[in-house]
Amino acid sequence: MSTQTKVTVTGAGGFIGHHLCKYLVERGYWVRGVDIKEPEYERTAADEFELLDLTKLENCLEATRGVQQVYGLAANMGGIGFIETHKAEIVRDNTLINLQSIEASRINGVQRYLYTSSACIYPGFKQKDADVTPLKEEDAYPADAEDGYGWEKLYMERVCRHYREDFGLDTRVVRFHNIFGPLGTYDGGREKSPAAICRKIALANDGDDIEVWGDGKQTRSYCYIDDCVEGIYRLMQSEYRDPLNLGQDRMISIDELVDVVSQIAGKRIGKRYDTTKPQGVRGRNSDNTRLRQVLDWEPQVSLEEGLARTYSWIKSQVMDSRANAA
Ligand code: NAD
Repeated sequence: MSTQTKVTVTGAGGFIGHHLCKYLVERGYWVRGVDIKEPEYERTAADEFELLDLTKLENCLEATRGVQQVYGLAANMGGIGFIETHKAEIVRDNTLINLQSIEASRINGVQRYLYTSSACIYPGFKQKDADVTPLKEEDAYPADAEDGYGWEKLYMERVCRHYREDFGLDTRVVRFHNIFGPLGTYDGGREKSPAAICRKIALANDGDDIEVWGDGKQTRSYCYIDDCVEGIYRLMQSEYRDPLNLGQDRMISIDELVDVVSQIAGKRIGKRYDTTKPQGVRGRNSDNTRLRQVLDWEPQVSLEEGLARTYSWIKSQVMDSRANAA
């Protein structure tokens, strides 16, 4: 009899889910990928890929049948420009997707369920300065999450604990801090800052200005996708059940991010600030003390290396679209 572990990855048509399918297949898992859309830039590595709308319980039941583990990555989401302007749609879709995915997993006897939460659950009042104190897991309460996307995430973290305590479904909860890398959305309105900046610089000529949202002094930390999937996997193998940060702990400003990408591109780029655009919290960084303790590991890929790989991919995409449009 085969002992191959069977897993479902929801959101397998999206950025992190697509990379995760590849990672798990390479490690010998049998993987079912599920999404409402196919991966945009590359064929899935999953053994089976089903197009399903996970806001419907019957589809969640189909998605989670016959597997031992579920990695829940499906979400209606995007960068700050999207989540600040689509709050009702986001909370409606993500509440339905997540509640029905975990309920279907329970009904189908899934053993372990991963929920993908976000740094957006951390209180706004702890992120008012660019020079912010890194966020520890226990900083989540008293709660003042990002209004919409963040509150749904915080609520679902608790749902996971209730399902574990009352129904015995073993859950893991990861809080991502700005994941970036190749094969992520880089245009269309859902893209996040690293991808948007790479696209703008790829399209700019040497000496041009690019538009920067806000005054450029807001800070973040950024984690490369290969570290993200490695961290997810390690957490899923661990016995740690409380929410865990997964991100880099090197904080930089948006201005510095633009400068790093300009250097990679070999272009002199100026900045034109638009302070009417959404900027999110003023400062955010991950405290990785618990991550190191629990996983005996921390993200390895430097920001420069990750951005070099990401810029190179986005540049080739942008050049291909230009060539096709000509
Ligand atoms: P993504 O948007 O690239 O992928 C999400 C996928 O979910 C998409 O392919 C989308 O089509 C799919 N989806 C949306 N609605 C669906 C539905 N009704 N039925 C089935 N599939 C549906 O996002 P991502 O960056 O890969 O994020 C994955 C998870 O990680 C999400 O839970 C997200 O909230 C979380 N997260 C990501 C980041 C980040 O920096 N990328 C940060 C914090 C949290």
